[in-house]
Amino acid sequence: MALLTIRQMGDEILTKKCKPVKAINKRILQLADDMFETMYDAAGVGLAAPQVGVLKRMVVIDVTPDPEEGEELKEEDMLRFCMINPEIISADGEQTDYEGCLSYAGMSGIVTRPDHVVVRFTDLDGDECELEGTGLLARAICHELDHLEGKMYVEKVEGKVITNEELAEIRRKEREAAAQGGNAENGEGKAD
Ligand SMILES: [Zn+2]
Repeated sequence: MALLTIRQMGDEILTKKCKPVKAINKRILQLADDMFETMYDAAGVGLAAPQVGVLKRMVVIDVTPDPEEGEELKEEDMLRFCMINPEIISADGEQTDYEGCLSYAGMSGIVTRPDHVVVRFTDLDGDECELEGTGLLARAICHELDHLEGKMYVEKVEGKVITNEELAEIRRKEREAAAQGGNAENGEGKAD
């Protein structure tokens, strides 16, 4: 396993359309391992191959929720995927929240995404899969698949991009408001 360098916005590779993966060979399996390792190291919830300089249609996502205190993570609660040649086959609903990107480190912006998507992809065993995602998983799928088209979330941001410190302050105020009986929606604000 190896940590890969995450390309940052301004790098031309992030604007290019990716090519389909033709075969799941040793190199692809290694790349998947390295992408997971790189994503976890950067505390992200998703990473697309072009972000590590590889113009292939492949993404990794892990939006597994933290287990409750004192509880162990159950296998069925895991939301960890490597998607080869993914394609969104249906999308509906709407969610608006902050999102970030490992290729624009330390920043976040408000993006509206579908709240429900169905994605079709090949997994690392070569099996055809269909997965339904809602909430953060739907957002991560949309964000990562945009990277495969050479698109960054900043093109879709409503308002301005803010620093993660500013976002933490907004979240703190939301929690305060919620504690006072409001019902602020609580997103995770993690980087994809
Ligand atoms: Zn991203």
